[in-house]
Amino acid sequence: MKRVVIITTGGTIAMTKTHNGVVPFSGGNSLITQIPGLENVAEIDHVEFSNVPSPYMTPDMMWKLSRMVQDIVNDKEVDGVVITHGTDTLEETSYFLDLTVNTEKPIVLTAAMRNINELGTDGPRNVLSSLRVAVSDSAFGMGVMVCLNDEIHAAREVTKTYTSNVATFESPGYGPLGIVDEDAVVFFRKPLLRMNIDTDRIESRVALVKTFTGDNGDILRKVVDMGYKGIVLEGFGRGNVPPKVADAVSDVIDKVVVVLTSRCFKGRVLDVYGYKGGGADLVKRGVILGQEVSSQKARIKLMVVLGKTEDRDKIRKYFETSRAGGEISI
Ligand code: ASP
Repeated sequence: MKRVVIITTGGTIAMTKTHNGVVPFSGGNSLITQIPGLENVAEIDHVEFSNVPSPYMTPDMMWKLSRMVQDIVNDKEVDGVVITHGTDTLEETSYFLDLTVNTEKPIVLTAAMRNINELGTDGPRNVLSSLRVAVSDSAFGMGVMVCLNDEIHAAREVTKTYTSNVATFESPGYGPLGIVDEDAVVFFRKPLLRMNIDTDRIESRVALVKTFTGDNGDILRKVVDMGYKGIVLEGFGRGNVPPKVADAVSDVIDKVVVVLTSRCFKGRVLDVYGYKGGGADLVKRGVILGQEVSSQKARIKLMVVLGKTEDRDKIRKYFETSRAGGEISI
């Protein structure tokens, strides 16, 4: 039987309902390893990393978790890892791990939308299915995955789409990598754009700024005054912003790295529009194109990349991968 380490971090999967609402439950994490049927799938070790709601996750915690997971997968006796997490920021932690943990062994993040005592709670089933993925030979080399509701998604592509429904995780523009069907794990495709960044630190001072119609750029300028080293600027459509935000970009670009993303959740940001504030104009002002990653994931990537290098040309290559010919040699 394969050996899997379950790392618990908290989230609704370890919460119960009280008169104050749904809150973390101190024994919630250990209940996860007692889910009936797990013992038939793998030998399990349990490590409790934290017991927090996922909005409490920080870049430093993600980095510590990443180092813990790296140590665990380096152990020859371990075949895979399942990590339980809150759904709210699960896509950020999973992408962080995808970028920073160097392994071909399956790493699967899972969660629950319904707490332990709720009728039809999805946590136990999600853990069982994730364990099946973690022991599947075909999951080898798939990168960090997210498994809920019997769908398997790539960490780079997945996002939480629904505030309340158990079918909340989707990969818009991509679709799932595969499914768990009874006890079978079936993959339809492999993620082709995975990237691993070998760094020994991260830069957590990276902010996310979403523009809006009529934005005069003051927020962007203020964020730089607050000491952030990197900013993900979420624009509209193909990667366009109001004209005054373009002025603000020129004002701040020598002090901070700016990566441009889009509020659209499908497609790539590119330097197509040449008007003031259009993507092509912003690139001339020094902005880096986030290409296909979402804003919250571009922020995760920029934290990791800035930990590795401050060289603007190198940072650009990490993001504008298709311009680097699909291959990056940095
Ligand atoms: N608010 C919770 C959290 O992210 C939601 C969940 O766990 O699903 O921790």
